[in-house]
Amino acid sequence: MHRYLYIAIISLIFFSCKNEKKTNEKLNVVTTTTMITDLVKNIGGEYINLEGLMGSGVDPHLYKASEGDVTKLANADIIFYNGLHLEGKLVEVFEKMKNKKTIAISNALDKNTLIGSEYFASNYDPHIWFNVDYWIKVTEYVTEILIEAIPDKKAIFESNHANYIKKLGALKAAIHSIIEESLPKEKRILVTAHDAFNYFGRSFGFEVVGLQGLSTATEAGVQDVQKLSAFIIEKNVKAIFVESSVPKRTIEALQAAVNSKGHDVTIGGSLYSDALGNAGTIEGTYIGMFEHNVNTIVNALK
Ligand SMILES: [Zn+2]
Repeated sequence: MHRYLYIAIISLIFFSCKNEKKTNEKLNVVTTTTMITDLVKNIGGEYINLEGLMGSGVDPHLYKASEGDVTKLANADIIFYNGLHLEGKLVEVFEKMKNKKTIAISNALDKNTLIGSEYFASNYDPHIWFNVDYWIKVTEYVTEILIEAIPDKKAIFESNHANYIKKLGALKAAIHSIIEESLPKEKRILVTAHDAFNYFGRSFGFEVVGLQGLSTATEAGVQDVQKLSAFIIEKNVKAIFVESSVPKRTIEALQAAVNSKGHDVTIGGSLYSDALGNAGTIEGTYIGMFEHNVNTIVNALK
């Protein structure tokens, strides 16, 4: 269906459904990425109807709203999205809705602390979930919004918030200690399919290089592959990583380029970058995703 028709339909459904909700119905919350879905689920639990638009392995940079999504968005009381132009193809849809219940979770963060980027219209790197402290702030922001929407569940949401940020704090401490114990500083070089890990690198002391740049919307060229293969050889990088939401072929081409120069580099495993693992698995949660990534990185590079 044509994009503008979508937008017209959204406006129609959205404005006609407003204020018709029965008081005993649960709040309809729609989220974009799997990371945001997991966060909102941890706070809202059984007290909201939660619909995540994107599943495991889905690339948010390229994701387009389907007809089903348009219906979900139209019926939503609150929509949480990442913002900073992560969901590049959904921006127009959200902007046309012009509704205060459409909430960019990145609003929780002070923009001056973010990593700048010329590749995004926002001018910032949108991969904010890889900084655990940011995720703690986002959790607080989401909790406030849910309390505002369902005030009688305040105590439950506050308790869920307290439990969850305790787990996030423990996660951060565990990551620091595993990296400190297992990976000498000169081995902390992370080469991945696209530049999703800059906040991870800044948090945990890694030099980070992505083959495709910050958005998967730009394909890696032959020159990028040659330049990065020279870097890998020079720095004696042992392993490079594919990502679950990006096709493997770019990283395989990079490995082939390094091998063709008589050097050896392995593919150290698959990292979750812009989407979590399958729902219902450990990697399908933010905490499980982070543990998987760190274990994979440390085991391949040490
Ligand atoms: Zn990305």
